[in-house]
Amino acid sequence: MITKLLIASNNKHKVYEFKKIFSKYNVEIITLQEANIDCDPEEKESSFKENALIKARVISEYTDLPIISDDSGLEIHALNGFPGVMSARFMEGRPYEEKYIEILKMMKDKKDKSANFKTVLCLYNLEKDPLFFEGIVEGEIVSSKGDNGFGYDPIFYSCDLHKTFGQAEDEEKNSVSHRGRAIEKMIEYLKENKYIGR
Ligand code: IMP
Repeated sequence: MITKLLIASNNKHKVYEFKKIFSKYNVEIITLQEANIDCDPEEKESSFKENALIKARVISEYTDLPIISDDSGLEIHALNGFPGVMSARFMEGRPYEEKYIEILKMMKDKKDKSANFKTVLCLYNLEKDPLFFEGIVEGEIVSSKGDNGFGYDPIFYSCDLHKTFGQAEDEEKNSVSHRGRAIEKMIEYLKENKYIGR
């Protein structure tokens, strides 16, 4: 059984989501700040998986706790997966409202509006090799609607929810989101291998 997991993130949204889910299994989620780890590895690889792995590897130099790291982003099919691993860095420092305008301009003449959010979670320091769990949610790029959530949520129309993530409540979004789905797979793995209770 595991009692503690270190989450390789200081993002409040993510930490909250992980704490809420793992509290059901009596697993304490420790943030980087709580572990006094002052380190924010750059996400400069070409895939979500590599970015998640590097993050975990760097942090494992500071702790023996099992580590959860992740990387995620928006992939627009007509733009060959753009912004993908560049999701956070695209027009870095500019408000998301400006990013939406740029993306909608790029999409103006594209018939195919389909897109997905993807998350890859890496579970490190548990088994001999790192473990990966992927979650995907399909949708379409639409003009901005709603102001819930964060990042690209208002321009992502979810095929599951029939509204944008910007119009969805937290719980609704988490029930279908890329991150929610990747976390579900990880929980299943931890249960099956008796790292957490059922
Ligand atoms: P991260 O790797 O999870 O921090 O995500 C990188 C970037 O992808 C974020 O800064 C957002 O721009 C975008 N992104 C990832 N997940 C979401 C989401 O659930 N909603 C909106 N944007 C997201």
